[in-house]
Amino acid sequence: MLTGKVAVITGGTRGIGNAIANLFAKNGASLAIIATRDNERAQKAINTIKELGADVRLYVCDVKDAEQVESVSEEILADFGKVDILVNNAGITRDNLLPSLSVMDIDDVIDINLKGTMFVTRSFIRSFVKQRHGNIINISSVVGLMGNKGQTNYAASKAGIVGFTKSVAKEYGRRNVRCNAIAPGYISTEMTEELSEAQVSELKAQLPLTRLGLPEDVANLALFLASENSSYITGEVIKVDGGMYV
Ligand code: NDP
Repeated sequence: MLTGKVAVITGGTRGIGNAIANLFAKNGASLAIIATRDNERAQKAINTIKELGADVRLYVCDVKDAEQVESVSEEILADFGKVDILVNNAGITRDNLLPSLSVMDIDDVIDINLKGTMFVTRSFIRSFVKQRHGNIINISSVVGLMGNKGQTNYAASKAGIVGFTKSVAKEYGRRNVRCNAIAPGYISTEMTEELSEAQVSELKAQLPLTRLGLPEDVANLALFLASENSSYITGEVIKVDGGMYV
């Protein structure tokens, strides 16, 4: 479904981003993966993508640093010649009740989740406009739509991504650039592994589909949004949450 396409995925060495990278690779895309570190684990993820037959390169970049983002995006465009698809997936949590959140807890979450998404999109938008096509997929969260106690900073960052997604869709639709967001519910990754067994059981009992999601559940939607099968969809926020927020 993605033969000949070049995709940039932020946070593509672990969790949801890595599942998206693997699925895109299986579907013929070339991949530029952005992560904060190039360690043994990141190399293992890159090798797996290579074994799937993809041309893949790892770029170390902190998405909250606008200058780093600008230079890495130039490097990616020079290395691959073009970018067709951008997946803004990098994200963190720093959960606590509002009075206990430090300034850094608030800054880091807004800077990485929201401003990072804006910086990376801003860096590639000119090339999308120039080539008259581009496809942006932002990973928001169901928490950005429904709110959640203990996640005021995170929910605000993810709600911000919703507004950003709709605005980019309106600003660049006429240039054939699409922008959509995915709002996952609870997905089994390192981000959610801090939940106790009791919390997981309680969660499952509340979910219509009675299970936590898998990274692959999100990747399947990302593939659809990245492909021409979704060519008349832009400005949408689609939940992958097992019915958590109906
Ligand atoms: P993980 O913690 O498993 O992975 C996070 C990824 O983001 C890592 O690859 C990490 O790179 C990267 N990253 C973090 N900070 C930065 C940064 N400053 N610059 C560049 N890359 C960075 O998270 P998930 O896979 O669970 O989450 C992926 C996305 O999905 C996030 O945006 C998250 O908010 C969202 N989401 C997750 C849900 C869940 O239940 N898991 C639910 C709803 C949304 P590195 O390996 O180098 O640290």
